[in-house]
Amino acid sequence: MAAHQEKKLAEERKHQNMQNDTKASQGQWGRAWEVDWFSLASILFLLMFAPLIVYYFIMSCAQYQCSLTDPLLDLLTGNKHLSDIWNRTPMLTYRAAAIYSLWVTFQVFLYVSIPDFCHKFFPGYVGGVQEGAVTPAGVVNKYEINGLQAWIITHVLWFANASCFHFFSPTIIFDNWIPLLWCANILGYAVSTFAMIKGYFFPTNAKDCKFTGNFFYDYMMGIEFNPRIGKWFDFKLFFNGRPGIVAWTLINLSFAAKQQELYGEVTNSMILVNVLQGIYVLDFFWNEAWYLKTIDICHDHFGWYLGWGDCVWLPYLYTLQGLYLVYHPVQLCTAYAAGVLTLGLLGYYIFRMTNHQKDLFRRTNGNCRIWGKKPEYIECSYMSVDGTKYYSKLMTSGFWGWARHFNYTGDLMGSLAYCLACGLEHMLPYFYIVYMTILLTHRCLRDEHRCSSKYGKDWKRYTAAVPYRLLPGIF
Ligand code: NDP
Repeated sequence: MAAHQEKKLAEERKHQNMQNDTKASQGQWGRAWEVDWFSLASILFLLMFAPLIVYYFIMSCAQYQCSLTDPLLDLLTGNKHLSDIWNRTPMLTYRAAAIYSLWVTFQVFLYVSIPDFCHKFFPGYVGGVQEGAVTPAGVVNKYEINGLQAWIITHVLWFANASCFHFFSPTIIFDNWIPLLWCANILGYAVSTFAMIKGYFFPTNAKDCKFTGNFFYDYMMGIEFNPRIGKWFDFKLFFNGRPGIVAWTLINLSFAAKQQELYGEVTNSMILVNVLQGIYVLDFFWNEAWYLKTIDICHDHFGWYLGWGDCVWLPYLYTLQGLYLVYHPVQLCTAYAAGVLTLGLLGYYIFRMTNHQKDLFRRTNGNCRIWGKKPEYIECSYMSVDGTKYYSKLMTSGFWGWARHFNYTGDLMGSLAYCLACGLEHMLPYFYIVYMTILLTHRCLRDEHRCSSKYGKDWKRYTAAVPYRLLPGIF
């Protein structure tokens, strides 16, 4: 009986492997060819609850001093009704709509109208027109990389206003935080819906569209791979980086200004959060060209996950630490603050060096030195839909020999540091590390599924050479 079952299992595994290899050879990597019940359930859950989760966090700060349990207790004990909470929530205002429209229009202007000049001044910075990776249809898109410039111009104007012009208060973002949330939601839903319609009726590249036949999956995960308007307005690059990530540092600065206004000082915890997250944001823009080779741009299609996520989830939930510190100004003792700073910088170092090693390795096609030695790697091949065969390499030395996603491990260390900067009194600031752990673990599995379909048996050789995903010896 056991032998019979084992034989059946072996046959099933063989069949599955053959299917994977066929998909790999037909260039099906990067497309979901079936939507399993778990993916569908997760998608429906997120579509229904993600906007509520964001609202719950922001409302709990505004109405319950950032307590995550008190609103629930109030509702469960009948102390308050949903309508009581809702009636105390600020609505959309003309002022917020004007601020938000101006903000997005300004970022669109910076993105499409001013070609990059930073690469002419900053040695080592890669900006201007750059090429992305090969898409499943075999297309290589060109991008205008000018995010660093947009970030600098925006922040120079912000500081000029705060110190000289005083057109608006630097607390403007905090003061309109919930009305701006409604604006961000309107944009997030509008752009995701537009992307879906565009995918059906006027895609930028029809061969790079993915139709699973499931409406919800397609809406959430996207149909078009690289939707564009005109030659240069790329939805993924724009919405991923701006307006959300440019705003991240401004939001934190606005929270710091609010602390100053309310308490007459900015706490060291707020400075830590501003500095550590500021490094992360600046790193993102300094390496925007490298970012073209990451999963978001290389492999994900553009749907609600990226469109709404970049407009709402990112600016509202990645900045919870700063928001929390407005309501709870924590002054850390020097030793604790130094420990958090060290963890944050170490995490950042690992994150950057791991990403840098892969980038260098891929750019030089393996002709480089990693930790003073020639890198070790596995040769692999894959095919695009038109049947063209491509060759690639998977590095098995440096940080990439320690684990298959050690860059995520560094990112998680940095994320933990942001949370620890808020002290140990409250749950809310720790949402970020919980979320990042789920996001990056899921991303790891998603990426490996895709790579396995793309590289087939070569991927198996790679996982045998580097057996762990995030933590050597553990996972
Ligand atoms: P990676 O940069 O790890 O890219 C994964 C891809 O790299 C794979 O699909 C594969 O692509 C290639 N690859 C995998 N293993 C190797 C290897 N050994 N040698 C060479 N190439 C390899 O993942 P992400 O794009 O997800 O992440 C980029 C960074 O962004 C990470 O540091 C992550 O922490 C961060 N991030 C942050 C988020 C946030 O919200 N703060 C969200 C997501 C990511 P190929 O098909 O080309 O072989």
